[in-house]
Amino acid sequence: MRIASIETYPVRIPLKADHRMISALGRHDESQFVVVRVLTDNVLEGAGEATATPRWSGETVWGVKAMIDRVLAPALFGMDLNTDDPFVSIKAIDARMDALAIHNWFAKSALEMACWDLLGKQAGKPVYDLLGGPCRPLVIPSRFSMGAYDLTTAKRRAKELVAQGFDTVKVKVGGEVKQDIARVRTVRQEIGPERKLVIDANCGWSAETAIHALHELRDCHVLIMEQPTPDGDYEAIAHVRRETGVKVMADDMCFNLTHARELLRNDACDLISVYPGKNGGIRKSREIVEFAARHDIGCTVGSNLEWDIATAAMGHLIVATPNLLVEEYPGDIHGPAYYEFGIAKKPLRVDGPETEITDRPGLGIDVDWDVVRRNPCQ
Ligand SMILES: [Mg+2]
Repeated sequence: MRIASIETYPVRIPLKADHRMISALGRHDESQFVVVRVLTDNVLEGAGEATATPRWSGETVWGVKAMIDRVLAPALFGMDLNTDDPFVSIKAIDARMDALAIHNWFAKSALEMACWDLLGKQAGKPVYDLLGGPCRPLVIPSRFSMGAYDLTTAKRRAKELVAQGFDTVKVKVGGEVKQDIARVRTVRQEIGPERKLVIDANCGWSAETAIHALHELRDCHVLIMEQPTPDGDYEAIAHVRRETGVKVMADDMCFNLTHARELLRNDACDLISVYPGKNGGIRKSREIVEFAARHDIGCTVGSNLEWDIATAAMGHLIVATPNLLVEEYPGDIHGPAYYEFGIAKKPLRVDGPETEITDRPGLGIDVDWDVVRRNPCQ
């Protein structure tokens, strides 16, 4: 089966009012995606999604569209997708894209996940089977990632999350440290002592601020300190880990295998957060997770508030990858719940802390292209 055509659709989708995100990166009230449709010479359709957030990855919907339309797609036309060894086909796709452009993680991941979708459809198998088969159930536990809200809102949201059954709550910090500490304390009081509490600074703190905050929050039993310090500063994150004894997770500074290697070389983290969009594809995420496993470093998934296609890509990766430790450290895998409307004719089941992928061939998402076309990002 050969790639015959590639279409790109920039879209914008508002977040539900009570799901709007505030973090060290700023406010996030609507998402912008490029939805990708790859057609083959045997008329199969593969779907991919790039969540484009410039302050996170440097990519914009217009940049992603131009990168795919003008640079990546022309190089992929005619390429063979062979189900005998899907990893070989995907590696060839990745090599072709990497030879043309560095980075552009989300643009590449959209094309790569569409190719996995096609390989699964051609083989009549879900993508997790192509990745080696399931090692955990198709129902995946998720944490809730709460914005850096004022105390009244944080308290109300924490109460609602407990009622919805979440056993892990992540709180955004990384801003003014006194307010951050007060927010985390409020959430801990509201969720009680048993539930897990994760905090995420999105690079917003210095090492000294993070160490101070974690000392102040000792009685709140923070399970994971996610990305306390700036991108690229391996010594700073390692310093936080050494000084506090709190588990440190690298996220915003780990896009590829080289970053993962450097993190380990610096003893900089206990955990690494991955997901296909950020890492440039399912295979590349998997490569990082397997590398981490060989060094006894666990992984879980982060998120850029994906829609159904990229959430399914995360789900298939989790189901087939033992070292994605979502039972102990639930990840962010309920992006579709953030949005006013969905993209799939049969949406993923996202029910409080549970997200369920299907055993249908490919990624299992039947895209409603009318919805995509009706919500352009211009
Ligand atoms: Mg994060």
